Amino acid sequence: MSFNIAIDGPAGAGKSTIAKKVAEKLNFIYVDTGAMYRTIALSLLRNKVDCKNETELSHALDQVEVTIAYEDGNQQVFLNGENVSNQIRTEEVGTMASVSSACPAVRAKLLNLQRTMAEKFDVLMDGRDIGTQILPEAQLKVYLTASTAARAGRRYQELKDKGQECSLEEIEKDMKERDYRDMHRETAPLKQAGDAVLVDSSDMTIDQVVEKIIGLVQLRREA
Ligand code: C5P
Repeated sequence: MSFNIAIDGPAGAGKSTIAKKVAEKLNFIYVDTGAMYRTIALSLLRNKVDCKNETELSHALDQVEVTIAYEDGNQQVFLNGENVSNQIRTEEVGTMASVSSACPAVRAKLLNLQRTMAEKFDVLMDGRDIGTQILPEAQLKVYLTASTAARAGRRYQELKDKGQECSLEEIEKDMKERDYRDMHRETAPLKQAGDAVLVDSSDMTIDQVVEKIIGLVQLRREA
């Protein structure tokens, strides 16, 4: 049986950076589910789909195939065969992902892909509903969070490092809106699973969080 780790939490808590490092140390496959939602969002943006219109959305989703592959251990996402791993990393796509992921049809589209990966392999999967909906039987669940100020500050630095112009206030505002949407949607809202370990990374370094999670995995394996 495969060993599954679920990490959920709001945007900017450091999930992907930490998940990648933990997966590498444990020799697990890292599955970034946010990238899958972003891939669908990119397709909806490109085709100017109104996702409030259920018929239009359903028709658009029929034309979308999301697949993943690994290159040097890094997850690549493909939209109908096109590698869109870089194009999905914009704020516009992130916002559209947050809006469209509230639609049950979008979530249903990705469910099998995510569960199949977890059945076949030892995975560390991160997202918003992994511990609550996708992998309720995961051997370890972590809810990784941090204060809004800490998360916005990190995202600001990340964008600056990439040479992108940005405003801290705007980022913080977008982040609050995104958190609200993710936590208050009807289908699979972001919330801590009852059996998830809460890790607040506001005052922790990346390496401290990585060590903490590896320690939790060891405890689960010994149990
Ligand atoms: O994690 P990331 O910022 O890439 O996710 C983009 C958006 O995709 C999130 O704001 C969230 O709305 C959605 N998402 C989700 N469920 C997941 C992963 C991401 O709803 N498992």
